[in-house]
Amino acid sequence: MKKGLFLGVALAAVMLMSSGQAQAKTQFVTIGTGGITGVYYPTGGAIAKMVNKKKKEYGIRATVESTGGSVFNVNAVMNGDLEFGIVQSDRQFQAVQGLAEWKDSGPQEDLRAVFSIHPESVTLVAAVDAGINDIKDLKGKKVNIGNPGSGQRQNSIDALDAVGINYEKDLKAESIKASEAASLLQDGRIDAFFYTVGHPSGSIKEATSGARKVRLATITGVETLLKKYPYYAKATILHSLYPGAQNDQDVETFGVKATFVTSAKVSDDVVYAITKEVFDNFDDFKKLHPAYATLTKENMLEGLSAPIHPGAMKYYKEAGLMK
Ligand code: GLU
Repeated sequence: MKKGLFLGVALAAVMLMSSGQAQAKTQFVTIGTGGITGVYYPTGGAIAKMVNKKKKEYGIRATVESTGGSVFNVNAVMNGDLEFGIVQSDRQFQAVQGLAEWKDSGPQEDLRAVFSIHPESVTLVAAVDAGINDIKDLKGKKVNIGNPGSGQRQNSIDALDAVGINYEKDLKAESIKASEAASLLQDGRIDAFFYTVGHPSGSIKEATSGARKVRLATITGVETLLKKYPYYAKATILHSLYPGAQNDQDVETFGVKATFVTSAKVSDDVVYAITKEVFDNFDDFKKLHPAYATLTKENMLEGLSAPIHPGAMKYYKEAGLMK
């Protein structure tokens, strides 16, 4: 009995000591983004910057990782390789429901939403010499539809499907990363590429400022798609953002939103701290990328289909943004 009591006390002492140590220790968290010429990568950097400013107060050190994109990020957050990820709103929905890329693995029950960020549009970048003005002109062309870990891959397949183009039969589909697509287009190795991205983005700038003349092609005739999927909405790309593109009008397409996600396993304190720093310093955050031009605190709570993480919820209630 005595021995048992002693062991119990010793165990409690060890637990106390280790929890004291954990508090003093820096917690490292990694944010999964996308290719470095996209908008997720600087967005991860912007979020990390807000929280790292208060490293002394929170003991959190956030770093950013360039990844294959949304689908990769959901999976890495779910298996604990990453604490946070930037994920398209449509992929968040599919992951929660266990659809599309998650058809086999089922609903990702531990996925948690933190906030949404900038709008992203499904962007079709095409060489003028390939005669592509609209998605319908892609038949028989060599087109990058996106790497398997990306968010754009399913968007390209959905859009092609909506206009009656089978990506496996009717065109030569490539599955390369968005960060490599611009140079492949300039080198004449592909005719066009899809990229679901915020604007302006480095990749589209790169693609439209080389010697080969390039335009942003429209994605029209996809009304059935917009009706079928609640997360897709009509969108327009401002041609003025890409002076090198051969467009003299804004470009009609459809889009989604970028969202910030985590796992139910990530602590409330960490999620609270990141949420608080981004929202309390909203005006500074908004200045960090031109793609955030339309952000408001309120619209950063839209487009979330996973349950909101309790750490984020605590902040939204305190700030009066949610009841
Ligand atoms: N939307 C893309 C994806 O989910 C990434 C866009 C970006 O990196 O800005 O893969």
